[in-house]
Amino acid sequence: MNTFQVTELKELLSTPKRIAITMHAKADGDAIGSSLGWYHYLKGAGHRVEIVSPTDYPENLKWLVGTQDVMVGPTDADRASWIFEGADVIFCLDFNSLHRLNDFAKVVEDSMATKVMIDHHLDPEAFYQLAYWDDEASSTAELIYRLIEDLGEADKVNADIAQCLYTGILTDTGSFRFTNTSPRVHKIISHLMEAGADNFAIHEAIFSNYSEDRLKFLGHALLNCLHVKPELNAAYILLNKEVFKNYNLKSGDTEGLVNYALSIDGVKLGALISTQDDLVKFSLRSKHNVSASQLAQKFGGGGHFYAAGAKIVGKIEDAEQKFLELLESEKEMLTAE
Ligand code: 5GP
Ligand code: MN
Repeated sequence: MNTFQVTELKELLSTPKRIAITMHAKADGDAIGSSLGWYHYLKGAGHRVEIVSPTDYPENLKWLVGTQDVMVGPTDADRASWIFEGADVIFCLDFNSLHRLNDFAKVVEDSMATKVMIDHHLDPEAFYQLAYWDDEASSTAELIYRLIEDLGEADKVNADIAQCLYTGILTDTGSFRFTNTSPRVHKIISHLMEAGADNFAIHEAIFSNYSEDRLKFLGHALLNCLHVKPELNAAYILLNKEVFKNYNLKSGDTEGLVNYALSIDGVKLGALISTQDDLVKFSLRSKHNVSASQLAQKFGGGGHFYAAGAKIVGKIEDAEQKFLELLESEKEMLTAE
């Protein structure tokens, strides 16, 4: 399904505005990449623009051009709230439910600004006035490119915008591997490379920057924390608080780990179950007929068909038990041919 309010957005952006861009908490490459790409475009178009990230985000994204302009909410909470209160327009990128803004959900909800959702997740909540939304798009970065094109401004995509949007598409498609990698994605990537995105430099910056701790942690996680349930076509990695402490893990260090669970022959559901405080986070990935979002919804979460997540309060041992019960109850889906 989709909604493309291009005429309304064109009208909205036809005069200079005070604009805030924000994204979901614990931003990933798509959240940051799409936000920065849109930021560079809007600044070039003469608007006053600020970006607020509700939480800190992974170190391997901090080389992107413009990253020094991203306000990290918790370290600058008063200023961030003031930006949301005073904005004419708030662009909400890569999420579709205000609770994903954590502590900033209320101030954004209460702001008089026109709220615009640009997103590719299933089942949006009705918190916005305008939308550019397509749940079949690979990424929000892809949607930013398409929106700039729809606004008749494709020639404004410069090397800075291209670098940021390339990063968003790259990370949300698993390096152009997942089923969301359409022919259209490759055409857009071709335009972004022509506009100056340096594919090798971007891949290096994102994927070849591991710390020694991070690599040893990966070995530990695969050797000691992986549980395989062949009779359920499922595998999961369980990370408790001690692991986070022992390996000095930072935001983003568990990124991609869940895919190892899914890489086992026959496994159709991979999960990462982790906790650092009193919340347990589920990160789910699936293949074929198995819906990760359907499973995540059972724990109050959501996401995409093949990539979804949820958070529940409690101990990791109890969360593991609940997860195993969920797998049993979904055995039919998990083991269907
Ligand atoms: P990840 O496993 O990378 O953290 O998240 C994968 C996808 O699941 C995200 O793109 C997001 O759509 C969704 N997701 C992750 N955590 C949550 C959550 O707590 N609530 C909801 N509704 N969706 C989530
Ligand atoms: Mn995304």
